[in-house]
Amino acid sequence: MWSLQPKAMELFPGVHRIESVFGGRLLFQYLFAGDRIVLVDTGIGSTPHEAIFFYLEEIGISAKSISMVIITHPDLDHHGGVSAIKDASPNAVLACGRQDAAEIEDKEVLYRKRYNFLAERHGLGFGREAMSLCPGTRKMEVLFKGNERIELAPGRALETWHVPGHSAGHLALYDAKHRAVFTSDAVQGNGYPTVEGGMAFGPTYYVVSSYLSTIAFLEQQPIEHLFGGHWPAMHGPEVGRFLARSRSFVQRADELIVAFLKNHTRGATLREILYAINPRLGDWPQDAAPFLQFAAYGHVSALCQAKRVKASDESPVRYRLA
Ligand SMILES: [Zn+2]
Repeated sequence: MWSLQPKAMELFPGVHRIESVFGGRLLFQYLFAGDRIVLVDTGIGSTPHEAIFFYLEEIGISAKSISMVIITHPDLDHHGGVSAIKDASPNAVLACGRQDAAEIEDKEVLYRKRYNFLAERHGLGFGREAMSLCPGTRKMEVLFKGNERIELAPGRALETWHVPGHSAGHLALYDAKHRAVFTSDAVQGNGYPTVEGGMAFGPTYYVVSSYLSTIAFLEQQPIEHLFGGHWPAMHGPEVGRFLARSRSFVQRADELIVAFLKNHTRGATLREILYAINPRLGDWPQDAAPFLQFAAYGHVSALCQAKRVKASDESPVRYRLA
């Protein structure tokens, strides 16, 4: 599950990608080294000691000199290592999107609101096993809302972009000098790839309208290079194709849900909808279907809001076309 040989790469002068493998998938953190050292994401609990510090040492940067850690969004594989980083870099200022702070700072909030919120009314959700990937967490010290400038050196800065959908406060960092954006999990194409080139599981956006706005926003920006949290780097026209693929996945999922409900006039639970659409959306393993619950819930919620679908008061909730 974990490769001990971290690979890393200098993408541009002073811009590094720290790579490891987690759960058969690529996992990236990014490091900006100017007069200030800025780390973007921290991996799971063991990533700092197994990949990040190792890489810093290799390029001659002391962990103590990290001046800011930006957590792009609350997820065990992105903020799980924050406590280990703060221990090694006590002066590093911890930052995240302001709507995400509560989930990053409190594991119980993360579990209840992000991973298991569909348990009670939908019989879905996730067990607590994975929570150990985040052994400790810390108070966030700077809350970004987007459009802030983070100075790296005179005349050299990163911009924060607010790119919600996968989380409410999701951040991307834009490096104008290289026309490069670091999106983490803000856009997800057809889902998360495995290191072998297959698919691990489908997209995990939560709020469909925000996710679509983020895709549209990114399409308007001067982006030459897109670097995500788990996807190979994209360059030139690949960027637009990835964004288009991300949008068409959303459209396909929506159409499949509506078509399924048309054929199930007595209604269907979220679980039934999820398992019906899952095999038609991607070729990830069947047991990866639960990862699609967040997007599926996002879709039925949006359809309910648009009054195209009605939700019952039963438990589990049943959905039918309005
Ligand atoms: Zn994520």
